[in-house]
Amino acid sequence: MNKTVEKELQEFLDQLKMEGLDKKERVLSSSQGASIEVGKVSVRNFCANNYLGLADNQEVVEAAKTAMDRWGYGLSSVRFICGTQGIHKELEGRISSFLKTDDTILFSSCFDANGALFEPLLGEEDTVISDELNHASIIDGIRLCKAKRLRYRHSDMASLEDCLVDAEGSRRILIATDGVFSMDGDIAKLKEICDLADTYGALVAVDDSHATGYIGKHGRGTPEACKVEGRIDLITTTFGKACGGASGGCITGRQVLIDLYRQRARPYLFSNTLAPAICGGTLKVLDIIERGDVRGAQTLENAQYFRKKMEKAGFDLVKGDTAIVPVMIYDEVKAVAMADKLLASGIYVIGFCFPVVPKGKARIRVQLSAVHTKEDLDAAVKAFIAVGEEMHLI
Ligand SMILES: *Cc1c(COP(=O)(O)O)cnc(C)c1O
Repeated sequence: MNKTVEKELQEFLDQLKMEGLDKKERVLSSSQGASIEVGKVSVRNFCANNYLGLADNQEVVEAAKTAMDRWGYGLSSVRFICGTQGIHKELEGRISSFLKTDDTILFSSCFDANGALFEPLLGEEDTVISDELNHASIIDGIRLCKAKRLRYRHSDMASLEDCLVDAEGSRRILIATDGVFSMDGDIAKLKEICDLADTYGALVAVDDSHATGYIGKHGRGTPEACKVEGRIDLITTTFGKACGGASGGCITGRQVLIDLYRQRARPYLFSNTLAPAICGGTLKVLDIIERGDVRGAQTLENAQYFRKKMEKAGFDLVKGDTAIVPVMIYDEVKAVAMADKLLASGIYVIGFCFPVVPKGKARIRVQLSAVHTKEDLDAAVKAFIAVGEEMHLI
């Protein structure tokens, strides 16, 4: 390796470590749940996207095993060569009927789904308009297409309308937004976005990764919660959060668009098919959600309970109606130090710093699950208060 390059990179990494801002991988010795083992210590877990607690659900595990027995371990192929089995078509059909869309195309992840979303649809004559707080995978997906790029201030409809005016004359206009914003936990103003899209003849794409399965009365996500089902042209989502937490994702939406992706989406054409076990597990997750055995309402009740107690204790929270509760610390070093102290007192949370959130907006993102008990929630609040007082944050 070139010595100068190696030295530069090592200096960058050493600097991060010195500032205490290097990302650590803590090794779990358990499966994912309301409580987990970090090393040999059992802690209450408040940083998973396990909104419905399905990540270690026995029925889901069994369904994945059954699918593996029936269909094998893997396909060693992309979908259009010899990587499509009945179970892939079955899952695509189930997602379409669950989310009330025309059709669905599977990907290995939602990151890949967003990588596929823009390039086949948008060229130089087109414009894509994106919320400034959109997920990194939307930003990267947009980078892969040649359309003109416009960004609007977070959930600011006047700013979005300015962009739509700017985009007039484009062949196609696409508005892209997260359904639930991953770092702030707020829900996009989908009703207003759809109305503006109608006025300006734009398409709408929603990434519902932090919503599918638990937001909305039946878990159909932010389009259900905002009453705009049928008005969203494209939804991308993940199976790696509320829907079992393993991996995999999809684009679901209008027929002609999904047909286009089957012809042209590069992560679909050039990346291996989803493992059959994941298809089987995800199908079972949809059964469980549709049966109403797990309830997103419970997740949201837990979040409200936690939110109220934390506000009362004097913490500065970002407002919202989802299971993401950001506790604002602002200072990066303090946010990381606080999370470490909380872990030491049995509450597993993470301090989020640049580049995951903007500079000066460091926070601890608390995530609630339907499987947290009152005892879990009270223990978390108690630990936050103790550490918050010790650090003079409240
Ligand atoms: C988590 C997330 C993704 C990535 O999903 P994966 O399936 O893990 O790749 C994409 N978009 C948003 C908004 C997310 O929160």
